[in-house]
Amino acid sequence: MKKVGFIGWRGMVGSVLMDRMLSENDFFRMESYFFSTSQKGNAAPKVTNGHQTLMSALETKELLKMDILVSCQGGDYTQEMFPQLRKDGWKGIWIDAASTLRMKDDSVIVLDPVNRHHIREALHKGVTNFVGGNCTVSLLLIALHGLFKENLVEWVSSMTYQAASGAGAKNMIELLDQMRSVGNRFGQNPAMEALDLERQMATLITEGSFPKTNFGHPLALNILPWIDSEMPNGQSKEEWKAQVEANKILQTTTMIPMDGTCVRVGALRCHSQGLTIKLKKSAQLATVEELIRSANPWVELVPNNKADTLAKLTPAAVSGKMHVPIGRLRPMTMGGDFFNAFTVGDQLLWGAAEPLRCVLRMALE
Ligand code: NAP
Repeated sequence: MKKVGFIGWRGMVGSVLMDRMLSENDFFRMESYFFSTSQKGNAAPKVTNGHQTLMSALETKELLKMDILVSCQGGDYTQEMFPQLRKDGWKGIWIDAASTLRMKDDSVIVLDPVNRHHIREALHKGVTNFVGGNCTVSLLLIALHGLFKENLVEWVSSMTYQAASGAGAKNMIELLDQMRSVGNRFGQNPAMEALDLERQMATLITEGSFPKTNFGHPLALNILPWIDSEMPNGQSKEEWKAQVEANKILQTTTMIPMDGTCVRVGALRCHSQGLTIKLKKSAQLATVEELIRSANPWVELVPNNKADTLAKLTPAAVSGKMHVPIGRLRPMTMGGDFFNAFTVGDQLLWGAAEPLRCVLRMALE
């Protein structure tokens, strides 16, 4: 049985990965070892064939004994530990949620519903670095898979509404903390006029004592139109990832332009995206609907009406679900080759943990 080491298993992505592996009985297929950067010696999660004690993720000694390492620990960890392991001669398979290695020539970005054949081929050829894609990119590709398969897309612009948990466990807890502060202040003056309340809250969220260590800014009662670092061309790094990662996953020979504005919003879980899709030629709505609907088992087309949209196409409706709904699909007034759409997906499932789980299963076969 192969030895598989898990790093970052208690973070947002890692815990969703653990849940999915438990519900799919994956642990029967491997010997599991759990590593931590902060809890060495504590009890490890109890799983079938699992080693019982947490080992240090910051020392290479035990990591080097693994056949496969799955890291959901984050980019800084990968940056530091991955080169050390390879330098020490570790030849195992590295499966990672962080972006650090995504664009390297010797890594494959994994998204099972879209590039399963490519992943299989890479494993056969001896590729050893497999990285999950950016969450919004992966969810967009699953939603629009049918149009990409038909080579119909000239370009896509995506305006995102990304949940707090996309920034990690500490950030998600911070949003709740901010909401508690808002709730507490409201509780002191529930009978105030609306505009007076608004003024109180506007002051509260800009006060120095408002909890914002992780986001750096209020997210409760606010939105943050910048995610990740600054790129020289004026994009945020999150925006830059869309085009480069999507084209790498799709293995395009001619780059499909993808760009837009990425925005953090106060949803807890699930990323949403408003899409403008420019097709290479005019198409009937029914054709576009059918292509999208039939592309893979996970995409779900939501009829473009108010009741279905508000019931099925929101973070509240999609949180914790495997399917990736897309709706608000209609031709735009710019012409028959422009389509509007809106998609919501669980960024911790197909946006992060599930592609890693799929490649792990393949690597164990
Ligand atoms: P995270 O929740 O911040 O977890 C990372 C590590 O932080 C944990 O493994 C844990 O490490 C430590 N940690 C500290 N305080 C914690 C707490 N209160 N609860 C849980 N863990 C805590 O990070 P993440 O969001 O899972 O992201 C991991 C990687 O996946 C990142 O590179 C990220 O960019 C990428 N990613 C994330 C998402 C997403 O939606 N969140 C989607 C796609 C990709 P120790 O046990 O070693 O202390």
